[in-house]
This record gives sequence, structure tokens and C-alpha cells, in this order.
Amino acid sequence: MKILLITPQPSGGFSPPFTVLPLGIACIAAVGRQAGAEVDVFWGADTEAEVDDYLNSCKPDIAGMQTFINNMSSCFSIAERIKGKYPGAITVMGGVQASNFPEEVLQSKMIDCVITGEGEWTFQELLKNGAGNFRKVPGVVWRDAGGKIIRNPGGTVFENLDDLPLIPYPLFYRQKESRPIPLVRGHILTHRGCPRHCSHCPLRFRAGVPIRAHSLARVMDTIRNLQSEFGLSFIEFYDENFTLHPDLVRGICGELKGMNLGWSCTARTGEMTEELAEKMAISGCHEIIFGLGSGVPRLQKLLNTNEDLQHASRIISAVTKLGVNTVAAFALGIPTETQREFRESVRFALGLNARQIRFEAASPLPGTILYDIAKTGGRFLVRSWDDYISPGQMIYLPAGWRLGEFKRALFFAKVSARIKRSFPKIFG
Ligand code: SF4
Repeated sequence: MKILLITPQPSGGFSPPFTVLPLGIACIAAVGRQAGAEVDVFWGADTEAEVDDYLNSCKPDIAGMQTFINNMSSCFSIAERIKGKYPGAITVMGGVQASNFPEEVLQSKMIDCVITGEGEWTFQELLKNGAGNFRKVPGVVWRDAGGKIIRNPGGTVFENLDDLPLIPYPLFYRQKESRPIPLVRGHILTHRGCPRHCSHCPLRFRAGVPIRAHSLARVMDTIRNLQSEFGLSFIEFYDENFTLHPDLVRGICGELKGMNLGWSCTARTGEMTEELAEKMAISGCHEIIFGLGSGVPRLQKLLNTNEDLQHASRIISAVTKLGVNTVAAFALGIPTETQREFRESVRFALGLNARQIRFEAASPLPGTILYDIAKTGGRFLVRSWDDYISPGQMIYLPAGWRLGEFKRALFFAKVSARIKRSFPKIFG
């Protein structure tokens, strides 16, 4: 059996450099290989000719696509090409957007089934039951011969993450002659799941899914492999909140010491302590991104992030003093945010002792609680899924602002952040 796994480019003409490993399909690739299938990946092509070239050289029995909100048109178009060339091929979609909107996705006759949430277990079942025999696959969403969309009951996740087969990194990091993918950093996930319920989180299918972590041995095996096989000198931990399992982090830091590797991660200030930060800094941590959301307590509640802003300020300052590049990220124009709150949030951010402050316009994504709040006031500036998350593209204008006025305020906030970075003493 031949499996082709694809991460289609965003549809709105926005082509980011594909240098970040698509961990979703990487884990599916591992499961496919473990089942004895021949697996190929198609990662980072952005012209139709490139897609056609690739499909001509690969005749898949199953084609799996990773969806985001803004690559759906590309996914549908690639699925159509696959069905046109190989009518017997099974097309499967997974990823955030397909997981949140499986029924909508299956309106396209080019898509045979959707696997929601963490897909490895269900994909394994799909392979076991014979591709196309969806009725027997627990947890899959599919369309029967009469066109009825059916959500099969059952379906689960790998309870012990170490039972997941190892990611076949060489499959992704090889250099393609036509489009070399620079191998700059290794990408790793240490755990799955999140205990929080942020109102802006598009990963709502995670609700009720247990939080699990890899063992220290497994994480370190992966890192050592990446270092020895590819000569990587930098690791990006791609967990939403790397410090969720402090003991695992302490273990990783202990092992990384002396390995001459730089690394970065994303963390929440709530789980960070000075003791942990010190261990991280000593072990080679170059950068920590703290997604704070807002500098206004009311909006912290609305986002359901509930960061203690005073603690956040203290801990970010402590981490900065350890020599780590601290990045504090904020969203402005959060639904219901007033102009006074916008200024309060900017003031709070600029008062932080962080190396970098990032301001972006808030993006209430379909399927989130924040999206429903946004619909009660303000104005959406996008028409289709394709328009989301392109650089410079504003999604939403909160009530009480004119568009030009908001863009100017956001521009000045960003300029102030750049000035603060260059001349930190100006902002104290
Ligand atoms: S921290 Fe919030 S946004 Fe991030 S995964 Fe968890 S619930 Fe979603």
C-alpha cells in the first residue's frame, strides 16, 4: 500500500517558508510505516505544476492532508487532482480545520473521510480495516453511498505516548532537488493535551482528552538522533506549553547540559518558577515565548487565560535577567476590548522587562468561543477561510473603532515595541 501525506500551502497566495516540520503528518507517517506501508510526504510545494509533477511520480492508495484554517481551498484542489488522476485513491483529511468542521469538509465529494483530533490511533485502525471500509473504523467521519455523513462512535488516542512509533525524520528532512528544504532546527513535541480552555483556542476537539507526556528517555533519544544524524544544533520544543510537566523539563535540562545544543520553547508564566527558569537557561535555552493574550485583567477572564499579570511580569523579568531571549506576545483588538483597554494592554506590555514584545491584531477563529463573542459586536473583515492568517490581513475590527484608526493604533504599538527593543531604558 502506498500512502502520500501532504501539507498543502495556504490558499490565499501566502507562501511561508516551509522550514517547520509538520508534526501532525510526521506522526501519521510513522504509523503508516509501522503498518508496513510505503509512505511518501509532500511538504512545501506551492505551485500547481509542482503538485502535478509530484502526483505524476507517486500513485497513492491513500492520500492524507493536513488542514489549517487557511489552506482548505488548496486541500480541496489537490484532492480533486488526486481523484482525477487516481479515482481509486482514498482521500483523508485531518488537522485543526477538518477536525472542527468535518461535516462541512465532507460536503466535497473529493474527500472520503475525516479523522478528527489526534489521528494516529484512528489512522492505524483505518489501515487495519482496509482503506475504504470506513464503517468498521471507530472515530472516523465519512460519507456513505447515499451521501449521508456518518460519525462513527469510538476512537481514542495513544494513552502511552512512547507507544507511538518514532517520527521518520529523514523522510521530511531530505533535500529535494527541486525545492531544498533547509534543515535549520529540529522540532519536537514532549506531550499532548492541554488542561486549559482558552476562549480563542481552535483545538476544541482536545476537550476531555487526557494529558500525556513522553518519557525522558524517549525525548532524549529523539534529540540525540537529530543531533547525530543531521548535525542539528538547535531544537524547538513545539509544545503549546513546554513547562506543563516541570519534572520532565528538569530532566531534559539535566540531560541537555553539556550537549552544546541551543533550544527554544513556548511557555505559560503560570507554570514557570525562577528555579525552573534557571535550569532552562543553564541547559542552553535561548528563547521562551510567553503568549500572554492581554495586559487587561477583564480580557484575561474573557480569554479564559487567567494569567496573574503581576506574577507574569515578575517571572518574565527574572527569565530575561538569566540571559534568555524573552518574547511576550499580545493580541490587540480582542472582541469587546475598548480603546481605553487597548491602551492599557499596550502600556502593560511595554512596561515588561522582556527582550521582545509582539503585538498582533486579535483573530477570532471560527469554531472558537471568542468567535461567537466577536459576532455579537464589531465587524469581520474576511469573507472566507482562505483569508485568515495571512500577513497584514486583519480578521476583525472590534466595536468602537474605525478601521484606519485601529490600524494606526496597532502600527504605533508595534513601532513602540521595536523602539523598546532597541532602547530598553526609554521604557524603564
Ligand atoms: S493554552 Fe489555551 S490556546 Fe493553548 S492549547 Fe491550551 S487551551 Fe488552546
